[in-house]
Amino acid sequence: MKHVYQEGKDFAKAHILPYTDRTDKESRFPEESFEKLAEQGFLKLLIPEEYGGYGKGLEEHAEACLAFAEICSTTALCYMMHNVAVMCLVTHGSDELKRRIFADIIENRTFMALAYSEFGTGTHFYITEMTAEVNGDNTTFNGRKSMVTSASYASYYLVLAPSVEEGKINNWVFPLDSEGLSFELTEWNGLGMRGNSSCPMHVNDVTLDSSCRIGAEGSGQEQVFNVVAPFFITGLGAVYSGTAMHMFEVASSHAVDRKYPDGSSLSAIETVQVHIGNIYKNASAARAITLEAARAGANGEADALARILSARIFASEAAIECGRLAMRVGGGKAYNKALPLERLVRDAYAGQIMAPSADVLSVWLGKALTGQMIP
Ligand SMILES: Cc1cc2nc3c(=O)[nH]c(=O)nc-3n(C[C@H](O)[C@H](O)[C@H](O)COP(=O)(O)OP(=O)(O)OC[C@H]3O[C@@H](n4cnc5c(N)ncnc54)[C@H](O)[C@@H]3O)c2cc1C
Repeated sequence: MKHVYQEGKDFAKAHILPYTDRTDKESRFPEESFEKLAEQGFLKLLIPEEYGGYGKGLEEHAEACLAFAEICSTTALCYMMHNVAVMCLVTHGSDELKRRIFADIIENRTFMALAYSEFGTGTHFYITEMTAEVNGDNTTFNGRKSMVTSASYASYYLVLAPSVEEGKINNWVFPLDSEGLSFELTEWNGLGMRGNSSCPMHVNDVTLDSSCRIGAEGSGQEQVFNVVAPFFITGLGAVYSGTAMHMFEVASSHAVDRKYPDGSSLSAIETVQVHIGNIYKNASAARAITLEAARAGANGEADALARILSARIFASEAAIECGRLAMRVGGGKAYNKALPLERLVRDAYAGQIMAPSADVLSVWLGKALTGQMIP
């Protein structure tokens, strides 16, 4: 896979677009698109070559998420979570765990998800109230996760739980078929991202041996901040930049196509031109800052963290602003859902609250820029 953005965009037009409307209207997980994502190799984008994948990194992750989000924000979000979980395994998993899970992803078309957030600690997802009782090589877990994207569709879930080392956490891989693992499969009733099948996960006496722990005892926090956070935050930047670009495409083509009785287009009106210009300006700035942050992150540049945080904050706010303007350009046709803009606005609103939220990240950004510890 050489030109990930372009190949991703072509893929999305062929295999995501046909289901996008139904995904939203029926609140249905995009299963067909995931089948094709597996078939065409996107699920192994970040899996190292020695394990049968393409061995790509942060830049290609951002490009794929961006390309998919320009067609369907929900599908891009679910895909993004899979990549983040894969990368955590790539960097910290044991060879045995990698072999087992990567072979399953490649041969059996399975995928991964993140079960981090809890009802109590909310947006501060790295603080877990789960319990983990160690008995020899086995650990028994109890607790509840609040919102798990791709719930019951993904075959492996990254779960944070306390370590035996005081104040530390571990990152575990919970297989879907673990005894005691269940989902509250009520239909996801979120404002947007309607196809992501998010729901609570119940962990009742789930017992796993230490082969399912990622990395050394107590190393979960390091994984969260060094790998999960950069890939997740950059991925969210890409998802919301793509959502904003999608808004531009819909609003600008509507402005050109919508004709008044005298034959003139909506786009001939100067105020509309200004709105279209502002939508494009915000969307393309979000895309540029996100791709640049991914590049800085991939190259380990000194200010990469600040760039990544800025990109995610900017992109989620830009998507909401683009949506506000696009709804104005779309007029009644946008409001009555003849155009997909109201769906995109609903999707965009997830951006500012997904953990770590835009507000929390703004604090982190200030800390990063003044040399303080995060969080
Ligand atoms: C579409 C969608 C998909 C999701 N998928 C997943 C998933 O796959 N896995 C997963 O683990 N989680 C997932 N989540 C959960 C998400 O990441 C958050 O954990 C969750 O939204 C937190 O909700 P809360 O009401 O508990 O937030 P709260 O913690 O109650 O926060 C409420 C508000 O207060 C603000 N706030 C809180 N603390 C601070 C602070 N210190 N400084 C500034 N502002 C603060 C927050 O920004 C937020 O806007 C998903 C959420 C959404 C919307």
